[in-house]
Amino acid sequence: MRCLALIFALLMSLSPAMAQEPARLDLGASSLVQSGRAWWGDPPLDLRLTLSRAVPFRTYIVGDPVRLIVDLQGVDLRGEKPGDLFGADRVPDIRWGSQRRGWSRIVIELPGPYRIDSSAMKTGGPRAELQLALKPVGQKDFAPPPSATAALRNLPDPAQVDAAPVDEEFFIMLDPGHGGFDPGAQAQDQTEANLVLTFAMELRKALQDRGVTVMMTRDDDSFVQLEQRMTAARAAGADLFISLHADALPQGQAAGATVYIWNPKADGRAAQQLVARHDADDLISGLDLGGYDDALSATLMDFARTDTQPRSENFAKWLTSRMALMGIGLHNRPVQGAAFSVLKSPDIPSVLLELGFISDDNDRANLLNPLWRQRMVNVICEAIMGWKQDETARRAVLRR
Ligand SMILES: [Zn+2]
Repeated sequence: MRCLALIFALLMSLSPAMAQEPARLDLGASSLVQSGRAWWGDPPLDLRLTLSRAVPFRTYIVGDPVRLIVDLQGVDLRGEKPGDLFGADRVPDIRWGSQRRGWSRIVIELPGPYRIDSSAMKTGGPRAELQLALKPVGQKDFAPPPSATAALRNLPDPAQVDAAPVDEEFFIMLDPGHGGFDPGAQAQDQTEANLVLTFAMELRKALQDRGVTVMMTRDDDSFVQLEQRMTAARAAGADLFISLHADALPQGQAAGATVYIWNPKADGRAAQQLVARHDADDLISGLDLGGYDDALSATLMDFARTDTQPRSENFAKWLTSRMALMGIGLHNRPVQGAAFSVLKSPDIPSVLLELGFISDDNDRANLLNPLWRQRMVNVICEAIMGWKQDETARRAVLRR
């Protein structure tokens, strides 16, 4: 099972880029208009997207807040501004960006609960038009997003630590947060998505120089679902998962590097705010991995985690002690628990590292300073090497 997952992951990563030229969205010939009377509440809406050719697409609606998701394959949306769509002012928000493997995503926040009445890609002549009819529905008729149980069922089998891998290669999954249509936190023309990607690339290089194999959940400006970030690490059997962020919090609440480890019962207010924002931005399907409603899965996951959690804690300690030693500014509570979805792997030690907070002037200046980044990269490399020694010792004991 694990082999199959790995082969699948490899095949997917090797699949060639779209050979065809990307299709273009003709924004000037596209629109979002009211398509009938609003008898009560919100009006029916009609979305038309004119494309240079027909492409595969998927559409669906998710809740909290209600959003229409339109996925298009092989369409390049770069250079087009969502706000320029005719009728963009009818809805609270429109965003778009590229995703993995040639898919782009359009996210339209709707003014209330809707359902998709019809969707079709009409062709004729050299162009194609995606036509979508949206009908308002009452709150009680609104179909809820998939449940946490369904999400858990899709997880690959836990990696077997003891089923000794062919080689003892040590392998890290770096996860630069956000990306694509999700820029993450923003301040002074900087986006969290870009800052953490830059940092992750530099960290990857430094680790590779030390002989560590590194994979990344994304290495360009594309969106990856939170659950996918975690399952990619599990499918590949990573030894350690590090999610990199530089979030924003209201003034005075956060400055300095902070390491988060999994703790669903954590009650830190700032941490809860951060978790809620990340889950809300995980637009792919509104999946909520935050609450268990499947007792069996929860028990199995907890069982695996009793082994993993102390190893995550150990890495968090390595990180903070190295940071303190190297004079990196730390948050006044440098290690905290939080229920970040990406930390949910029951079998892979995982941390989420806030390198600093983009909303803090000092932290932001640090993130933009190549010298500071180099220092932080060194700190993380040293922490990884130290932690790796502990792990090697632990495995030796297990094998006895
Ligand atoms: Zn973030």
